[in-house]
Amino acid sequence: MLNTEQYKLNAEQALKKLMDGNKRFVNFERQTPILSAEERKKLIHKQSPYAIVITCSDSRVSPEIICDCGLGEIFVIRVAAGALSENMLGSIEYAVLALGVELILMLGHDNCGVMEAILHDQADMSEDIQKLCNHVSRHFTKEQKATLTSSEGVRYVTEQDVKLLESIPVLKEKIEQGKLQVVGAHYNFHTNEIELL
Ligand SMILES: [Zn+2]
Repeated sequence: MLNTEQYKLNAEQALKKLMDGNKRFVNFERQTPILSAEERKKLIHKQSPYAIVITCSDSRVSPEIICDCGLGEIFVIRVAAGALSENMLGSIEYAVLALGVELILMLGHDNCGVMEAILHDQADMSEDIQKLCNHVSRHFTKEQKATLTSSEGVRYVTEQDVKLLESIPVLKEKIEQGKLQVVGAHYNFHTNEIELL
């Protein structure tokens, strides 16, 4: 039986739950929680997710699948490259302040198409894709763009975005109170494992 209160986890417990779910996924042991009708009803009026997961829109990186989570467990924010932008901050702060989530997982991944485009300056892109790339690539020096692999580039951007989140006053305050943790991570396509940065 689903008990929404069970999802009131602190950052450490939440991270363990996500990593345990990833282990099950790696080992082809997903439990894929399918809620009963009764359990679904309980979710109508209230959500109590235990983690915010920010990641790329890439179809191969669905957090609910690679962390073996069910409905109501994680508050997911996705955008190509997973790169933090101003419009996403409201969603993040809502989950922290209104829903009481204590863990933010910034999850990058291998073979990211946007990162490939940034590092190899693909010219045949639309204006809006170019804007997205420019936004992500503001983190890099010219030298980094010339030398980093796409996996290294994604890891670097994840680390920069973790720092950025940690510096936002309302989030910083929660971190200082021990009520929030921001964790960077990287999803490896070859092992299917989430590696903490
Ligand atoms: Zn991606």
